[in-house]
Amino acid sequence: MIESPSPGLLVWLDGALVRHEDAHTALWANHYGFGVFEGVRAYRAGKRSAVFRLCDHTARLYRSAQILGLPLRDSWKPHDLVQAQVDVIRENRLGDAYLRPFVFYDGVRGLSPHTDQLTLRVAVLALPWAEGASGAAAERGIRVKTSTYVRSHPNSLLLRAKANGNYMTSILALAEAKAAGADDAILLDHEGFVTEGTGANVFIVRHGELWTPPVTSALEGITRDTILDFAQRMDIRVREQRFARDDLYSADEAFFTGTASEVTPIREIDGRTIGRGTGGPVTSQLAKLYAATVRGCTDEAHKWITLT
Ligand code: PMP
Repeated sequence: MIESPSPGLLVWLDGALVRHEDAHTALWANHYGFGVFEGVRAYRAGKRSAVFRLCDHTARLYRSAQILGLPLRDSWKPHDLVQAQVDVIRENRLGDAYLRPFVFYDGVRGLSPHTDQLTLRVAVLALPWAEGASGAAAERGIRVKTSTYVRSHPNSLLLRAKANGNYMTSILALAEAKAAGADDAILLDHEGFVTEGTGANVFIVRHGELWTPPVTSALEGITRDTILDFAQRMDIRVREQRFARDDLYSADEAFFTGTASEVTPIREIDGRTIGRGTGGPVTSQLAKLYAATVRGCTDEAHKWITLT
């Protein structure tokens, strides 16, 4: 759970650390949802903090900017933004934290903006992370509803980009799921195949194999990639293929993966109990390995961790 910014929190804005209260942008900034962002976790490591897959998240931020045509590469080099993310954690003396870099134009006033006259802004916010109720729910497993909202066609919104506007569908789907008494939603694509959750990728386990949809209509999740890496090392066969909601209902296990949700078991989908109604053995093995890796407790962890 992301905590609110406390007074005096320092944020990185266009190259300088400023107090959150003083980080001003134009009223027009972020209009039409035209911008890109990242969500990165850092875990307390003694007096320091271990940021998980920081370079991979930063690389995805650049890919997202490239997809939308935002000239991020012209203003900042990836190592500047990696350093900015390390700095906001270090200068705010954060342990468990959530990082959110944003890239946006300061003032898109029309649908055909003269972008050569606009300034590209980059902000990096780091907020404390507290496990809270979401952690407990994740341990028990969550109840999920198939959404009536359809994941956009890949020619409508460019889903490989982690773009602000893409999240409208997720916000609507989550609200619908919560109103129906579920914890989260799974979105299908325009042909009815499973894509992902509102803010997470989805996996199912069938007969010991791991199935996950391809990333044509889902975000190329970094946690998803970490799980695929684990599966390879654990000799679990993976099928990256399209599947439908009946495969979800009859799965032995199901789980979400994401930077915020880590590995979250799904215990119920549309009123049907999945497996035995608790996280199954494959899910819990992967969840434990993930929890140990992000905290630097496995041999392989070092390649993914940046210490602040
Ligand atoms: N899909 C969506 C729509 C998301 O917002 C997220 C969270 N960033 C994910 C998948 C999972 O991505 P990651 O593992 O990189 O956090």
